[in-house]
Amino acid sequence: MHKLSVRDLDLEGRRVFVRVDYNVPLESGRVADDSRIRASLPTLRLGLERGAALILASHLGRPKGKPNPDCSLAPVAGRLAALLERPVSFATDCVGPEVQRQARALRPGEILMLENLRFHAEEEKNDPEFAAALADLAECYVNDAFGAAHRAHASTAGMASHFERPAAGLLMAKELDVLGRVLAAPRLPLVLLLGGAKVKDKIPVLENLVPRAQATLIGGGMAYTFLAAEGIGIGASLLDRDHLDFASELLRRARERGCEILLPRDHVVAPAIEAEQQAQPIDAPAVPAGLAGFDIGPKTVSAFRQRLAQAGTIVWNGPMGVFERPRFAAGTRALAQAVADSPATSIVGGGDSVRALEESGLAGRISHVSTGGGASLELLGGLTLPGVAALADA
Ligand code: AMP
Repeated sequence: MHKLSVRDLDLEGRRVFVRVDYNVPLESGRVADDSRIRASLPTLRLGLERGAALILASHLGRPKGKPNPDCSLAPVAGRLAALLERPVSFATDCVGPEVQRQARALRPGEILMLENLRFHAEEEKNDPEFAAALADLAECYVNDAFGAAHRAHASTAGMASHFERPAAGLLMAKELDVLGRVLAAPRLPLVLLLGGAKVKDKIPVLENLVPRAQATLIGGGMAYTFLAAEGIGIGASLLDRDHLDFASELLRRARERGCEILLPRDHVVAPAIEAEQQAQPIDAPAVPAGLAGFDIGPKTVSAFRQRLAQAGTIVWNGPMGVFERPRFAAGTRALAQAVADSPATSIVGGGDSVRALEESGLAGRISHVSTGGGASLELLGGLTLPGVAALADA
């Protein structure tokens, strides 16, 4: 994963296409959270210092291949200009003669932000002509959009082949470095903390990391499929029938290798998510019929906390319960605190886990908060990310 870095490129006087991840939340046409924009600033500042003209491109939301004013990047350009304290011009499309003209007219130190790439269906199809049209705008290509690196789209994969030395931006390089170290030489013990609703998204990471981890702690909705695979009653809790066999097999193999897997041993239950007022603790691994587990209980918190305190490296992805609701948030909050308190190198990915940390004001105490939930899971799962494979080797 040693990829060419933007630092290694000769940028002076060049037009540099930077694929950024500005898929930020908008509220009433304003940027509600600018952390992804801030995360791109080191790469942009480096380019500007070295005399490049920058052409920035991103997707935002799911406009489904058609222009949609609700997904316009115009507010993002405004926010970026404020953060950089310099003008950012905006192109109302990302390809076509007018954009070509704007790109060609750029001088060193100037910035042009393109409109949402996904206003064209060709972006997600990795259409070769669309990729060529994007590539035609610039003389160098830098990908700093780690959060989109698991997608083979025109801007993340297809267009890179038009450049002699497609390079990683500083944010991309940092993500690859930190996550690569977890795979190559983590400080031991390695402890995985996994939660959230879906088992499917976590399959690669479970397969690749459980055998290398000294302990895997599973909470959240996905834990109930594992409990069910153990023959434990889960009542009306979330069950992913399609992955029951996967869960039993994973548990079996982990035990064979002496890798510890901890599942919830107590719960906070209710008849339904909306019946939050009827939430009650249950001091047993089994959930009674008619009730569903929506958070881990205090005994589970304490067992998980103990493993986290002894860890050398922690990888955390996914909440321990329906943390959006106060009565089901205690488990996630307690473990966010435990991850922050642990002396381990801590790596947290996934929107929900990051949100839980931010809400508790703990994000600053984490070694590495990944900007890519899906991308970090795939990378840690040992999969090749198309957006990384497209970059030149160092
Ligand atoms: P994921 O996208 O798979 O990481 O899942 C995140 C979602 O899982 C969050 O919105 C949580 O509310 C939800 N979740 C966590 N624990 C549970 C649970 N025990 N039952 C149902 N949903 C859950």
